[in-house]
Amino acid sequence: MKTMERNERAMASDSGNGAGTGKVVTRFAPSPTGFLHIGGARTALFNYLFAKHFGGDFLLRIEDTDRVRSTQPAIEAILDGMRWLGLDWDGDAVFQFARAERHADVARTMLENGAAYRCYLTPDELDAMRAEAQAAKKPLRIRSPWRDRTDGDPALPHVVRLKAPTEGATTIHDLVQGEVTVQNAEIDDFVLLRSDGTPTYMLAVVVDDHDMGVTHIIRGDDHLNNAFRQLPIMRAMGWAEPLYGHVPLIHGQDGAKLSKRHGALGVEAYRDELGILPEALLNYLLRLGWGHGDREEFTLEEAVELFDIKGVGKSPSRLDIKKLLNLNGHYIREADNARLAALIAGKVGPKADIDTLVAAMPVLKTRARDINELADGAAFLFKTRPLALTGDAEALLTPDARALLARISGLLKQESGWTTEPLEASLKGLAEELGLGLGKLAQPLRAALTGQTTSPGIFDVLVLLGRDESLARIDAQSVAGEQAAEL
Ligand code: GLU
Repeated sequence: MKTMERNERAMASDSGNGAGTGKVVTRFAPSPTGFLHIGGARTALFNYLFAKHFGGDFLLRIEDTDRVRSTQPAIEAILDGMRWLGLDWDGDAVFQFARAERHADVARTMLENGAAYRCYLTPDELDAMRAEAQAAKKPLRIRSPWRDRTDGDPALPHVVRLKAPTEGATTIHDLVQGEVTVQNAEIDDFVLLRSDGTPTYMLAVVVDDHDMGVTHIIRGDDHLNNAFRQLPIMRAMGWAEPLYGHVPLIHGQDGAKLSKRHGALGVEAYRDELGILPEALLNYLLRLGWGHGDREEFTLEEAVELFDIKGVGKSPSRLDIKKLLNLNGHYIREADNARLAALIAGKVGPKADIDTLVAAMPVLKTRARDINELADGAAFLFKTRPLALTGDAEALLTPDARALLARISGLLKQESGWTTEPLEASLKGLAEELGLGLGKLAQPLRAALTGQTTSPGIFDVLVLLGRDESLARIDAQSVAGEQAAEL
């Protein structure tokens, strides 16, 4: 659909899913303290889809205010991961730390407005408050005595705190969670500016969301509590309030919070270690927590067209790597052969040749669930004689089996056509003649042809290797071959 039409759709107030009547702007705001993990990728995807569905903008903000834990490699991994998934953001990525002066300005405006105050509590006084809260088994919610004092000396060390509302309640009409209400008394006077004048994360997020014109904040539900702390800043500044959609986190198969053990890996690990295609990961993440009837497959374009945040469930979804791999196998089978060949060439090894890989791909790709498996499956094509045998293959090649290979070689040498049908007919004929199952013939043949005990179908292997190479590999392992080697 054209952007124009989408904009019209946004303007036409799509009631119920919160798009409103203006331009939709969403953002993905990862902290580069780690790589782009799977939950983050899904958050990015939902923000992308929501914005694009309404012809809006999807922005990227790198929340790099934690100077100790933020790293350049993590920033690059996040940008790479987004590009790999095809989640292109509009405009340039915004770097939060670079905007610290602006954040501090807002805190100063809030001081002037009376929405914030200077707090001169000393570390010892804070420790005492903490100890008191602990003794009373209550969470520490700071209401500083300085909230209402006017006799402080700004030349002395102090922080700037939010003067949080103390009465009433705040209700959020969350696009995913529904109505959520928190008593204002529960919101503490958290710090906006530290004693060294630097802004806190909580302040930076709100200022950036406002300045970037963000209309919809879609993020993990671990940030739901933050929304209630962020709203008072917006209200104090008289800024338009965004709509929120707090998406349940992804859990592991066992229902526990996602950890490394469950596959809480960076998306680059899904690409490199698990061999997942981007379209498979996108589709899997999309369906993890969102549904459109029982439809299973969507291109990114189709997902843009159909995405509706009302379809996001309230309960955490479970990551199922097996399901992801099955889906990946499906996408591998659908993928373009030349693309797959290019993807695996480097993994197959220095001898890999693209033309051979492309020619073999229709056969290879029917078997693989991931790109690494696909590369492993292709390796036999480029082995050099005499083939190194795996332990299993070695064990299969008993003297009897090697004698059988000599028979097979003799038979195949008379073969005039070298395509699967005649080869199959000949080998089946031999199996029958010898009173053996075809498997008994295929096993040593596979070992000789590939050096392994697993491979594509044996007739496909013969065809892919071609007549000369096939016969040479068989002869190298047959009794006759062994004798020749001994001479
Ligand atoms: N930087 C936060 C995170 O990575 C996200 C903050 C937000 O979306 O408001 O969890």
